[in-house]
Amino acid sequence: MRNKLIAGNWKMNKDIHESANLIDELKHKVTTNEKVGVLLCPPYISLVIANTLLKDSPMKLGAQNMNDKDDGAFTGEISARMLKSVGCTSVILGHSERRQYFKETNEYINLKAKKALASQLVPIICVGETLEERESNVTDAVITAQVKGVLAGLSATDMEDVVIAYEPVWAIGTGKTATTEQANQVHKLIRKLVAQMYTWAIAEQLIIQYGGSVNEKNALELLSQSDIDGALVGGASLKADSFAAIVKAGVEASK
Ligand code: PEP
Repeated sequence: MRNKLIAGNWKMNKDIHESANLIDELKHKVTTNEKVGVLLCPPYISLVIANTLLKDSPMKLGAQNMNDKDDGAFTGEISARMLKSVGCTSVILGHSERRQYFKETNEYINLKAKKALASQLVPIICVGETLEERESNVTDAVITAQVKGVLAGLSATDMEDVVIAYEPVWAIGTGKTATTEQANQVHKLIRKLVAQMYTWAIAEQLIIQYGGSVNEKNALELLSQSDIDGALVGGASLKADSFAAIVKAGVEASK
């Protein structure tokens, strides 16, 4: 059975002091086991202190984005090597907010995924349809194009380290959650696509997270679905009690 992965995407929230306080609280409140990985993705400025504070914790550290280049004249950007140097094990790529506000394309996200893998960072690659796309019944076509685009050229070995996050754009930060059936259906589609591109064995070991207004109330039902292997949590990851409850739901669902 696949392990679960609960990740907190803090987005552009928490300065360095607030980050330290939240990590301190999370260290007291989050309990997990070997079947449920926990990942915190604070803003870049908090990664160094987070790495120090998480030294003896089962919680791991991730970033919210990175550049696809090694280094150079790219003002304001951060490379995979820099993330590694502050203890990151993972990086979120292609979040819908990056697609929407920073015009990131599947091709560009694919380049970043390749760089992350070459740098021993686990890429958590986000896909998801907009409300307009769902209402026009093109969800499957959109997800298919995104999955094929972001995974293009990745090897079977690369796929052992890839995580995909299905995040319907209309459910992010809106309080609207996909029904468990809607979510699980898309997760099954993603797994089938990966099986077609690679093998069923690779598809079966792939962790596919759900993201979109996950909270302490809906987490257990979502995480108990056959193809939902974790959660990418935005708003609720900023409150220690809520995030700890979501991790607890993951532990429960993994039994
Ligand atoms: C996210 O940021 O990836 C997300 C799913 O946000 P929220 O949980 O707030 O909807």
